[in-house]
Amino acid sequence: MAAHRSFDAVIVGAGPAGLALGTLLRPEQRVLVLERRALPARSPPIGESLPGAAAVLLQRLQLLAAFRESGHRERGAAVSVWDVDRPVWRDAIQDPAGPGWYLDRRKFEQMLRRRALDVGVTLGEGCKQTDIRHRHGQWQLDTTLGSFKAPVLVDATGRNGHLARRLGLQRYADDPLLCLYCFLDQADESQDATMRIQADAHGWWYTVRLPYGQRVLAYHMDVDDPLCRRLLRRPDAFLARAREHALLAEVLEGLAPARIRGRPAGTSLLKVAQLPKAGPGFLAIGDALLAFDPLASQGLFHSLASATSAAKAIEAGLHQSLGAYQDEMRAVSQRYLWHLKASYQGPRRFGHATFWQRRQ
Ligand SMILES: Cc1cc2nc3c(=O)[nH]c(=O)nc-3n(C[C@H](O)[C@H](O)[C@H](O)COP(=O)(O)OP(=O)(O)OC[C@H]3O[C@@H](n4cnc5c(N)ncnc54)[C@H](O)[C@@H]3O)c2cc1C
Repeated sequence: MAAHRSFDAVIVGAGPAGLALGTLLRPEQRVLVLERRALPARSPPIGESLPGAAAVLLQRLQLLAAFRESGHRERGAAVSVWDVDRPVWRDAIQDPAGPGWYLDRRKFEQMLRRRALDVGVTLGEGCKQTDIRHRHGQWQLDTTLGSFKAPVLVDATGRNGHLARRLGLQRYADDPLLCLYCFLDQADESQDATMRIQADAHGWWYTVRLPYGQRVLAYHMDVDDPLCRRLLRRPDAFLARAREHALLAEVLEGLAPARIRGRPAGTSLLKVAQLPKAGPGFLAIGDALLAFDPLASQGLFHSLASATSAAKAIEAGLHQSLGAYQDEMRAVSQRYLWHLKASYQGPRRFGHATFWQRRQ
């Protein structure tokens, strides 16, 4: 790294979006990806559902074959108690792009990291930025790993969009949705492959068996709901509450409580029109641009898709192609917001409850 202080692009954040963009820009460009973590997170990230349409994006990264051999599980049917108070089935096979997968997220991210390194991306891990400025057509970053410069700077820091905020850009992030979740140990003989989604007065649940012998159980509710704080501290109460719903109880029978974690999960959008205000050659991708509500199951797809669009825009020269990138991302946001609103309108029977009033 010491030998190459000057790059064609610096990407901040080595999540799926940053690693995919780094891979796509190499080998033509010298790319540096800076990541604040020195080591991978101890617990697997939440978020395991990848739609079949992502196969095309994985193919572009030349990862489809490796991905297929990594033990991710093909998606089965989804059954939800949502619009009406009874289970409704939807078969993943009906998706023309293919059923998609439930991921082993750790393996997925390791695969992206390995590919980025294989194509020659320089990766600086355990890195904090101390100063960022734009001068004489270059972004200059002073960091705990040294000083770097490049004409292109990309924010791939996830839903907080640290870099964009630091450069003065604003976000719409007024949804207080919090995801409480746990990974439950599940005997391998359990063959249930369904994604189960259940609405109730305080929010909505999902549970699905993961490819590595655990089951994720997640409850999305408002952070200011007093129940939320209570459940966060009480794994047994969390599991008991889930079991009050027959749809969930069927697959949670006999499982032991496990530590509950919480993650902000509401929609959070960078104001796309503001991108040029950060300075020339600046872009945001993945959650740093648009963080989806988990109800959409689109976050990882969007990370790979926005990285693909950003790579095209950077290769074509950002001064001419930024407008097209902004238009595309604006259209993605509008379509998403329309579908999200329509989905939350579904459970009319909870129209009296604060969680649903806020979103309907
Ligand atoms: C509860 C929940 C459920 C979800 N379920 C799904 C799902 O089923 N399907 C789906 O597709 N998506 C899902 N998602 C979303 C998905 O996880 C994200 O969309 C995806 O991880 C975004 O990738 P990213 O690379 O943009 O950001 P991230 O994965 O957040 O990666 C950002 C990276 O930047 C690093 N970073 C942050 N700040 C700095 C800094 N200042 N300097 C250097 N590095 C920094 C972070 O450490 C991290 O490695 C879910 C999300 C949540 C919260």
